[in-house]
This record gives sequence, structure tokens and C-alpha cells, in this order.
Amino acid sequence: MIIVYVDHDRGEIDPLSFQVVSAARTLDDDVQAVVVGPNAEKCADELGNFGVRTVHHGTHDRIADYTPLASARAVLDVMDRLTPRAVFAAGTPRGSEVLAHIAAIRDLPLVTECSAIELTGPDTAEVTRARWGGNLLERSKVSAQVLLATIQAHAFAATEDPGAAQIEAFDVPVTDADLVVGIVDRTGAQASGVGLAEAKVVVSGGRGMDGPEAFAMLEELADILGGAVGCSRVVTSAGWRPHAEQVGQTGTKVAPELYLAFGISGATQHIAGCKSAKTLIAVNTDAQAPIMTHADYAVVDNLHTLLPALIEKARAAKGA
Ligand SMILES: Cc1cc2nc3c(=O)[nH]c(=O)nc-3n(C[C@H](O)[C@H](O)[C@H](O)COP(=O)(O)OP(=O)(O)OC[C@H]3O[C@@H](n4cnc5c(N)ncnc54)[C@H](O)[C@@H]3O)c2cc1C
Repeated sequence: MIIVYVDHDRGEIDPLSFQVVSAARTLDDDVQAVVVGPNAEKCADELGNFGVRTVHHGTHDRIADYTPLASARAVLDVMDRLTPRAVFAAGTPRGSEVLAHIAAIRDLPLVTECSAIELTGPDTAEVTRARWGGNLLERSKVSAQVLLATIQAHAFAATEDPGAAQIEAFDVPVTDADLVVGIVDRTGAQASGVGLAEAKVVVSGGRGMDGPEAFAMLEELADILGGAVGCSRVVTSAGWRPHAEQVGQTGTKVAPELYLAFGISGATQHIAGCKSAKTLIAVNTDAQAPIMTHADYAVVDNLHTLLPALIEKARAAKGA
């Protein structure tokens, strides 16, 4: 049996968790989920569609929102009762920190960002992970009675297996020390619109945008195409856009049908975040920019003149 820690934000499941559940189901028919905090009923319905038949819902009157150590305590509680072969989570900051706490508390090895996992024996496994921004695939052997692993975003497709999941509620045994880290406030972006990680179209800008103002064109194009805006690290470092929009090794990994890159050179750290795109179109004044060799369509042009024309064409095509 495999346990998946499922992250949710006030009842909205992180879509990557469905990929993790699907990854677990390739290894074991019995995949059970742990969700923590309020609003889990909705989560159970959705998880049932992806083959989870039991959702362990950890609650406590002091757990009102995400808190990493209390989430780890909840998973540990379920682990102690069910003795799973493995515990997985999405390779997101939250999934990674919850599993890191479990690894530290139980002195277990943790393998992160796995793109393939094979359970080779009762306490052995082989995992594949991307290193150096995806330039190197590392295959490692792990010995552990319980395999703790985070799953790389978009390494596995989310595959449905509709059915009902029953909820088993339990009290999370938390102490004051488990509640020292928690969410105190939410500010800024992503209040509405398409989330970057799951967007079917991503319209991304780099240093070639020449400043924050030109991103209004990317927002407009993303809006017409029903997509999300992304950017390179230079852009977030300059404060032109929030970090939440950064695509890459140290940003979000995306896997859209279409990735449009405007004024992005294509450093390996950026490509690591967009190489799973089905179609990549790059617009760059430099025909020799590295991104042009990754692109399905490489357009050598000035983005500042091309974008207004493209927006007009896209608007006309959509009849918008
Ligand atoms: C540890 C580490 C982690 C990193 N993580 C990330 C990450 O997660 N994501 C990320 O993006 N980067 C990351 N980086 C940074 C990365 O190495 C690059 O510095 C960055 O991606 C470059 O951003 P850029 O392509 O926007 O800028 P540049 O490399 O400066 O490229 C700008 C491009 O715009 C083109 N251009 C200029 N004017 C125009 C115009 N008018 N029209 C069309 N094209 C034009 C230029 O020809 C050029 O190719 C990381 C670096 C390190 C060391």
C-alpha cells in the first residue's frame, strides 16, 4: 500500500497531487491519501476520481490552514497504523517540506523530484531524477522499509479511475511545537485566472521585454488564449513580475500544450521548467539564442513589433 500526502489550499487540491496519485497507482493498486485541515470532503470526491478509495482526513481545532509539521504528524499517524511500502508527495515546496519533516523525525532517506520509481524488493527501490536542470538523468538505488519520495511535476500523467473514496477522520496528535510554522497572511497574485502549473497555454517573457510595462501585452495575449503568464528569473529578480510566475529550475515546471517564449534566451535553468511543453514557440531577435534550438518554431523578430500584431490576429481568430 502507498500513502500520498495531498496538499490542498482551502479545499482546492494542488493538481500535481493527481499526478502523484497516478504515479503511485502504477506501483500498487492500494493507494490511500492523507489530507489535513478543513474542507477535505470536496478533496475526497475529487481523489475518488483518480483511484483513491480511502482518504484519511486529519483534523484538530488548532489546524485551520496548511502547517508543515502538523501535516507531517498526520502522515506519521497514518503510517504507524497502516505500515505503507511508500509515502509520496508532489515535488512542490509544501510536499517537499512535509516529507522532509517525516524523514528527519523517522531518520528515513528521502528522494526528491523523482521522474520514475521502481520498487525492486521489499525494502529496495530504484529512482530516476533529473539533475543539472535536466541535462543529466540520475538513477539511484534506495534502501528503506518505507520509501519517501517526491514526484517531479508532469513526470506522470494524471489518469482517472472513477470511484468513491470513503473518508476516515482522525485527530492529529499535535503539540505546540508542531504549530510554530503556519500561514499568517495571503497577499498578491493568483487570486483568479488560470494557474501556471496546469495552464494549457503559457505566454512567457524574459529580459527582452525591456521592463514590466510590456507584460501588459503578454497578459492580453494570455487572456485571449485562455492561458497564464510566465517569465524568466531575470524578470522576477528585477521585480518586473512576482516569483510565482517564474518558470524554470527554481520556479514552476510547466507542461502546456503551447509555450510561447518572448525575449528569453533559453538558459538550461529556464529550459528545465518548460521542456515538457508539447509545442514551444520562441520569439527572439538573436537567431543563435539557445532557445531557438529547443523551439518547434523559432521566430527571429523584435517582440515589441510582433506582439501587437499577434494579439490583433489572435483576437480576430477568436472573434473576441
Ligand atoms: C542556480 C540557478 C537557478 C536558476 N533558475 C532559473 C529559473 O528557474 N528560471 C529562469 O528563467 N532562469 C533561472 N536561472 C537564470 C538563468 O541562468 C538565466 O540567467 C535566465 O534564464 C536568463 O533570463 P532571460 O532569458 O530572460 O534573459 P537573457 O539571458 O538576458 O536573454 C534575453 C533574450 O532576449 C532577447 N531579446 C532582447 N531584446 C529582444 C527583442 N526586442 N525581441 C525579441 N528578443 C529580444 C535576447 O536576444 C536574449 O536572447 C537560474 C540560474 C541559476 C544559477
